[in-house]
Formats: sequence, structure tokens, C-alpha cells
Amino acid sequence: MDVHLLEQRPTPGPGSRAIGIHPPTLSAMEPSGVTEQLLQHALRVRTGEARAVLLLGTVQFDALKRRFPFVATLPQETTEAVLGAAAPRLSAERPCSS
Ligand SMILES: Cc1cc2nc3c(=O)[nH]c(=O)nc-3n(C[C@H](O)[C@H](O)[C@H](O)COP(=O)(O)OP(=O)(O)OC[C@H]3O[C@@H](n4cnc5c(N)ncnc54)[C@H](O)[C@@H]3O)c2cc1C
Repeated sequence: MDVHLLEQRPTPGPGSRAIGIHPPTLSAMEPSGVTEQLLQHALRVRTGEARAVLLLGTVQFDALKRRFPFVATLPQETTEAVLGAAAPRLSAERPCSS
């Protein structure tokens, strides 16, 4: 499937909307080489806790039978830098048909 990405913002936005990159996304990006690059900068979170002062619940990401049994956390600006650097190569390797 060909995908065209369009972005109206001329520069990256402030803040973060993706500090944690989840196992399916890491697997999906692995063939591109992006996952390996992101993991060089990431902490690997194997246990997540939801708290409102008291502990509400725990998620064991390392209980998953996945290739990447953790959530990779890194600053969004680093994620965007890795993706931006890889984009020209990936576009050249897999040009869209239209
Ligand atoms: C505070 C916060 C923290 C989050 N943290 C995480 C996290 O740690 N891990 C995680 O997995 N998810 C996280 N999320 C959720 C994640 O950010 C969203 O699921 C994800 O951004 C959705 O991606 P998207 O491409 O569908 O939409 P968006 O990220 O909103 O991207 C859509 C883009 O399209 C552009 N656009 C809109 N209209 C047009 C147009 N007409 N022409 C051109 N461009 C246009 C917009 O400028 C925008 O950049 C978080 C969300 C928030 C709000």
C-alpha cells in the first residue's frame, strides 16, 4: 500500500505526543532500520504503573510474547530527528507509484 504523508505544520510542534513507542510500532518500523536507531536513544520500560497517589494498576509489558516486550521511551524531538533523517532514504527505496 502506498502512503502519502502530508503535514501542514512547517516545523515540529511543541511538547510531546509520543514519548512512549509501543511494541507493535517498534515491530512495524523494524524492517526500515528506524527501530534499531530509536532504541539506541531509548529507555526500555518493561513495567508500567498507573497512579493517582495510590497505585491503580500495573501493566507488565515484558509479559507480552512480542519481539519487543517493552515500551521504548525517548524525547519526541529525538524520535522526530531519527524519522526525519531516515525519510529521504526510505522515500528513495520505496517511491510512491503516483
Ligand atoms: C499529551 C499526549 C501524549 C501522548 N503520548 C503518547 C505516547 O507516549 N505514546 C503513544 O503511542 N501515543 C501517545 N499519544 C497519542 C498519539 O499522539 C496519537 O495517537 C497520534 O499522534 C495520532 O497520530 P495521527 O498521525 O493519527 O495524528 P496527529 O499526530 O494529530 O497527526 C496529524 C497531523 O496532520 C496534520 N494535519 C491536519 N490537517 C491537515 C491538513 N489539512 N493538511 C496537512 N496536514 C494536516 C496536523 O498538523 C498533524 O501534525 C499522546 C497524545 C497526547 C495528546
